[in-house]
Amino acid sequence: MEQEFREDLHLTGVKKLGLMGGTFDPVHQGHLAAAEAVRCCFGLEKVVFVPSGCPPHKIDHGITSKENRYLMTELATLSNPYFAVSRVELEREGYSYAIDTVRYFQRLLSPAGRLYFITGADAILDIVSWHAAQELLDCCVFIAATRPGFRQEIIRERLKAQLTPEKLEKIVAVEVPAMDISSTDIRRRLSEGRTIKYLLPETVEEFIYKNHLYGAAGDRR
Ligand code: ATP
Ligand code: MG
Repeated sequence: MEQEFREDLHLTGVKKLGLMGGTFDPVHQGHLAAAEAVRCCFGLEKVVFVPSGCPPHKIDHGITSKENRYLMTELATLSNPYFAVSRVELEREGYSYAIDTVRYFQRLLSPAGRLYFITGADAILDIVSWHAAQELLDCCVFIAATRPGFRQEIIRERLKAQLTPEKLEKIVAVEVPAMDISSTDIRRRLSEGRTIKYLLPETVEEFIYKNHLYGAAGDRR
């Protein structure tokens, strides 16, 4: 898919770029801690968060507007000079395939640049069902964020029948510390009037209460 959209994410000279896709509804410490752990582990010069358009599998919970998800992701990442947020999927009509986003970032990077696609381990186990999965594995290293103690061989065992050894080698697991935090749990807590303190950055928490997102009452608990 050819795209007109361009943005300046200060990627000049970047050779190792992390991409962290997600709905970010809302973004939380799990996402941030995972991105930072992967950045340090692989010596990435930058990690770009890529909030999705409206994913078909998430329509059912009445997804938050893309501008609010984008703003929360901006607020959450501002204090880390290695993090940036891309609007590429928000500017597209409808849902974006990962392969379109990867091709977009390939065009922004120099030919020597390498892409590291960060995602939860559960999603990786499904990778063969993704659109253009084989091409995706040619273009990027996949980093599967796992719970501490996760048996990493599970990924290899589950995928070895469907992927060549070269492609399997492009999937690497990294243990991250805050895997139990989820946006679903945060949304549920807010709708029940329970605390979300320390599960996401304070700036994002303030934004949620101020804008009454997720049924949050005006006062913080
Ligand atoms: P939801 O509960 O609505 O599915 P989520 O918390 O899983 O939301 P997403 O925006 O769906 O958040 O996730 C974006 C990416 O971050 C996905 O690759 C997902 O697997 C990964 N991820 C989600 N939660 C965590 C976490 N606590 N630690 C590390 N990675 C996570
Ligand atoms: Mg999820």
